[in-house]
Amino acid sequence: WHLSIASGVREFGLATPDTVAVVDGDLELTYGAVYSRARRLAQDLLGHGLRPGDRVGILLGNRAEYFEIAAGVALAGLVMVPLNPRSTAAEVELIIRHSNARALLLDDTLGDQAATVLAEMAVVRAIGGTTSGPGYEAALAAARDDDPRITVDEHSPFCIAYTSGTTGKPRGVMLSHRSRALTFYASALEWGLGVGRRSLAVAPLYHGGGFAFGYSAVHTGGTVVVQRKWDPEAMLHAVARYGIQSAFMVPTHAQHLRDNSEHLLRTTDLSSLDTLYFNAAALPVPLKHWVLDSFPGVGIHELYGSTEAGVVSDLRPADAARRAGSVGKPWFMTEVRLVDADGNPVARGEAGELYSRSPYVMNGYLDDEAGTRECLTEDGFVSAGDVAIMDDEGFISIVDRKKDMIVSGGVNIYPREIEEILLGHAGVAEVAIAGVPDEQWGESVAAWLVAKPNATLDPAVIETYLRDRIAGYKVPKSWHVLDRLPRNGSGKVLKRELRTMITP
Ligand code: ATP
Repeated sequence: WHLSIASGVREFGLATPDTVAVVDGDLELTYGAVYSRARRLAQDLLGHGLRPGDRVGILLGNRAEYFEIAAGVALAGLVMVPLNPRSTAAEVELIIRHSNARALLLDDTLGDQAATVLAEMAVVRAIGGTTSGPGYEAALAAARDDDPRITVDEHSPFCIAYTSGTTGKPRGVMLSHRSRALTFYASALEWGLGVGRRSLAVAPLYHGGGFAFGYSAVHTGGTVVVQRKWDPEAMLHAVARYGIQSAFMVPTHAQHLRDNSEHLLRTTDLSSLDTLYFNAAALPVPLKHWVLDSFPGVGIHELYGSTEAGVVSDLRPADAARRAGSVGKPWFMTEVRLVDADGNPVARGEAGELYSRSPYVMNGYLDDEAGTRECLTEDGFVSAGDVAIMDDEGFISIVDRKKDMIVSGGVNIYPREIEEILLGHAGVAEVAIAGVPDEQWGESVAAWLVAKPNATLDPAVIETYLRDRIAGYKVPKSWHVLDRLPRNGSGKVLKRELRTMITP
């Protein structure tokens, strides 16, 4: 017996074939249907020359098909390579080439983004149309409905997940069947996901966190409702329409709800909702309190993790208000250690680089041994490059990403500390702090601000507000007001783009 990410769909497909697994708008797919469609996809891919271990690019937004595709690729012993549907053609080409993908399953509307690689693929299947290649539905209809029953070593990758590269070049994180299957079972134990639960997949499914949460539901016998496109009003309607109990979001989603949909929030029937999960970036403390106040009685989890390490810690509902600003305690089956620059453990209350060891940790980066050695230790601890503090009670707080630290005149400055304070100002909706080259100081601090709706921001006023609350050397030397901050699909601010705005 090997753990596989296809085993949930197979088991529930056989045991409870009539239970609804996936809902997407008016479309409902039962476990029987998802398993059957996954079997047909596996047969189609194997029948067109793919061999177990081959890689399959998936260029697709949130759609019902994502789940049967993940299961079908796994049933065939193939490895999926999820691509951000907002990737440029150059990014798609880079990842397809680097991962050596031999097949591409793509949303038919995204053909232009894959134009340079389509001709090289052994198999192309276009979802929702046929202009980018042969139609996916026709291929399923023509394939044998038969589980190929290929045994895959549970330690081998089911997926190569490319990190979005907000801090550097994209890297292919190899994630094993075992790591994800145990994540799904841990989600069932820790969070009660599973049979009888209805979850909303709001966060993008191409991203590690969004996929792990959404797919956990179908691996453990629950029902997942897919939200195709993020839209605050659509999310609230979906909760009411489908009786959603839990949803997995990123902090920018909460911000959009706060800034655009407060009225709807008060008038929509959200009584079925009992749990919200936040992940992918820091949930600023004022926003966290807004979430707690706006969803009374709903348990709020704040998760810290990364593609490399999987879920690392969870600020559980019981501590949500009392410990806002912390990312909680280590998750199920997870050890955390914080170390200094020489690799020695730091004392409680001191900042150190966060390493974690758990069944969810990656195998390594694809074709990048040096990169793997930099962050994965021989005894199995992995770092995603974050600096953190653990207090006496064992609560972890993320200080910042190591790569975002600003060194100005030889002094270390962590942008997050400044960002948190500025977010406390009544007129500030969003803020990003980053280091920019400075002839005298090496780097200097720059700030980008977005005003709340109906507020205007005067940088001089904001600067005075900050000066009263922080040491002078941390006060930004340049201020920029924007309409919105550039962010990736999981809501992280693209600081590299901000820097090039002022120092091209
Ligand atoms: P890249 O690493 O290139 O930016 P990415 O953004 O896709 O790519 P992920 O693995 O999704 O990479 O991001 C993981 C990082 O997100 C963590 O290392 C951490 O910096 C940040 N992060 C995730 N959850 C939280 C959280 N709850 N609080 C603060 N930061 C978080």
